[in-house]
Amino acid sequence: MISNLIGVGYWFNYDQPHFPDPGTLVKTDFDVNYINEIIYLLENAKTKSFSQMGFSWCRFRCGSENMGNKELTNGKYIWPEGLAHYVKEHKILLPIDFLESLSNDYYEISDEYIIDYNFWMDFCNKNKISKLETYKANYDIGHLFIELKTNYSENSIKIINDFTKNERIGSKKLDLVNKLTSDRFVRFIGRFYGLKQFIINMEKNGVLVEFLPFTDDEYMKYKNGDIVLGGIGK
Ligand SMILES: [Zn+2]
Repeated sequence: MISNLIGVGYWFNYDQPHFPDPGTLVKTDFDVNYINEIIYLLENAKTKSFSQMGFSWCRFRCGSENMGNKELTNGKYIWPEGLAHYVKEHKILLPIDFLESLSNDYYEISDEYIIDYNFWMDFCNKNKISKLETYKANYDIGHLFIELKTNYSENSIKIINDFTKNERIGSKKLDLVNKLTSDRFVRFIGRFYGLKQFIINMEKNGVLVEFLPFTDDEYMKYKNGDIVLGGIGK
């Protein structure tokens, strides 16, 4: 017999671009105790798991490596293993009916199932709390283009050093500064925090900065190790 399951926590991707952006469900005033309660429910629900095609990655591109590759079901709802991460790290809202079911329901199901996403799509459409979009958050990963104008201030080099603090690109930072001072222009790949403020500060110091976030395609390559943080180019 084929089971009918209600899907929760599915996000946009290439094949399903109509799915929601988790950024729109971010609720910044969540109480810590409430978040812990939800995490507890997600981590302690009785579930059966199915393997997905590949490891999933956080749509906020926060760099978390622990998103899992399973789908979990309690026989009524089905959700990706990485859902707890979105609540814990990004404070997203989840449907109450779903949360209640985690502690109340468990039904055995066969390995054959179909997922109905209508409940989830409805919930997301009705509960858009934030205008935050994942790719336009304060931090992002991608290509940073830096160009020193003729009147650049020496202080800007110090600001660049502070800005590229990411430990994963630590050793490449010197190359970045060297190339920048010799060529006046550099493209640097990294994960950057506080990008908007950085761009403003740089402009005050005679430096042009542009940022191009990774496309989904590039992000997948990065996850596979084909693009490395700290990469320098033209
Ligand atoms: Zn994340």
